Amino acid sequence: MNKNSSKSYYLYFVVIMALLFFTVWIGTWKVRGNNYTRGEFESQLKEDNVAMVTICPNKETPTGSVEITLKSGEEKILYVTDVTEIESFIREYGIDPAVEEVPEESWFLNSVFPILLVTIICVFFFVMFNSQNAANNSNGRMMNFGRSRARLSLGDNKITLDEVAGLKEEKEELEEIVEFLKEPGKFTRVGARIPKGVLLEGAPGTGKTLLAKAIAGEANVPFFSISGSDFVEMFVGVGASRVRDMFAEAKRHAPCIIFIDEIDAVARRRGTGMGGGHDEREQTLNQLLVEMDGFGVNEGIIVLAATNRVDILDPAILRPGRFDRKISVVSPDVGGRKDILKVHAKNKPLAEDVDLEQIAQTTAGFTGADLENLLNEAAINAAMERRVFVKQEDIKKAFIKVGIGAEKKSRVISDKEKKITAYHEAGHAILFHVLPNVGPVYTVSIIPTGIGAAGYTMPLPEKDEMFLTKGKMKEDIMVSLGGRIAEEIIFDDITTGASSDIKKATKVARRMVTRYGMSDNIGVINYDDNDDEVFIGRDLAHAKNHSEIISGEIDKEVKAIIDECYQKAKDIIMEHEGVLHKCAELLLEKERISRAEFEALFQ
Ligand code: ADP
Ligand code: ZN
Repeated sequence: MNKNSSKSYYLYFVVIMALLFFTVWIGTWKVRGNNYTRGEFESQLKEDNVAMVTICPNKETPTGSVEITLKSGEEKILYVTDVTEIESFIREYGIDPAVEEVPEESWFLNSVFPILLVTIICVFFFVMFNSQNAANNSNGRMMNFGRSRARLSLGDNKITLDEVAGLKEEKEELEEIVEFLKEPGKFTRVGARIPKGVLLEGAPGTGKTLLAKAIAGEANVPFFSISGSDFVEMFVGVGASRVRDMFAEAKRHAPCIIFIDEIDAVARRRGTGMGGGHDEREQTLNQLLVEMDGFGVNEGIIVLAATNRVDILDPAILRPGRFDRKISVVSPDVGGRKDILKVHAKNKPLAEDVDLEQIAQTTAGFTGADLENLLNEAAINAAMERRVFVKQEDIKKAFIKVGIGAEKKSRVISDKEKKITAYHEAGHAILFHVLPNVGPVYTVSIIPTGIGAAGYTMPLPEKDEMFLTKGKMKEDIMVSLGGRIAEEIIFDDITTGASSDIKKATKVARRMVTRYGMSDNIGVINYDDNDDEVFIGRDLAHAKNHSEIISGEIDKEVKAIIDECYQKAKDIIMEHEGVLHKCAELLLEKERISRAEFEALFQ
């Protein structure tokens, strides 16, 4: 067959598909867009806008739908969990609702049949195409295997930044890139340099891919995506040639976005680890660096890369002119989670009893992907009961199902734990703020981090300091102890959650004594010969170069330092007990608070 006839087949195919989808869409039309919440319905009743009400109870469950005709002629639907309750409720407003026995709809004809039809047609065309092209392709494939595997989507992915919920700061930071892709002239005219590469850092499922797609969608430019692991192949040199091809392809489509997922698979620190065998990865990484250095600053290609392990990346990729911009994509807080739920609930009709606010509150630590999964499971539950809308009960069931998976990652936390964590972090934060040589506090959060920490208090990035002073080291110890002290003051009991804090404090105190000669009784002698921490095993078999008596003295000094710091820290926290309560309450409400919000508590 020649090229033209296969093209006209293609056209037929598209038209038939379009028609089919249109019919299916019309069928579901009534379900979307015009469903009411209970509140909206009640206010219409109160304002006396309702002309007629028809209740359609379900056969198998007490649920049902209520068809509402307003006096303006508009028609709305409300999904209810209890039809008898809604009936008497409506009667209170003097309206006599009609009750309509819905004839059992043919489930097969309505949903399965169109899908079956579409599938059959798809398979038919697929088989036709393949038999046509098999002959041409079979010898083309071998030639192709070094080519880029990047998936390209041209303009047809219409994800916009609106569909990325929460992540406000992250979106703001990426705003200028969107502007640049839309209108490069605006920037080149004034000689502005736009970053070539942006590294998105964050746990899986926090929306990094989504964000990258949304930038492309918003700017309406092509989007190339590839995963770091696609580069790593058996044959040496294939990865490097894939990188080359991908950039060549991208240049042809500029302005565009290249998205590299899991960049850590190729960009791991070079020259580490045991044995050789890194040739392939290093070549690929080198090629990537060469390509990034190679294209001009404002050529219109922007490389976005995602990872959840910035720590293992080769520092070379973070140099200026490469990925010189780093954006942390964090797990959402309560507000963010509510927004994400709203986005994903858009095409799922919700019953009146669904409370997204409450769901947002009980899902601390869930990422965007987890929340999407939660609503999807709920929708599946609804479908299993042949309902066309989602009830709170479905979401509860889904929560148990996905929650068990999440629990393994120690995510679902009780209210009590949350409260303890809130006070714990507030304790750290107050000391950061009050003590002169540490802090200020950048963020305080009680969102579990997924690496075992229940929350964190983050100071601004530390300045590069040549020396640590004794005062600063003591303050570091006090800050570390602050969490434990706050727990003790408030709960009269202590938890095991502070163990890493205590370890950190002890380590600092021990160094002060044995390495820096900062204690009065031991004097200026180095008793610490554990300098190279690389050989962890060495510590065990290590012979001490000082006597047992000195060891005892060291321990005593360490304890004295810790005790002193403990008392001082406790005094400070007691003095600010009001702030401690306010801070913990705010944390419980918002889960993450910023520097400004925190500092306002001191007024
Ligand atoms: P990552 O790339 O960080 O692993 P993805 O971008 O692949 O995560 O997210 C997976 C899915 O989770 C998305 O397709 C989307 O449905 C949902 N999701 C994650 N974050 C958000 C968000 N901020 N807003 C809306 N949906 C989100
Ligand atoms: Zn702590």
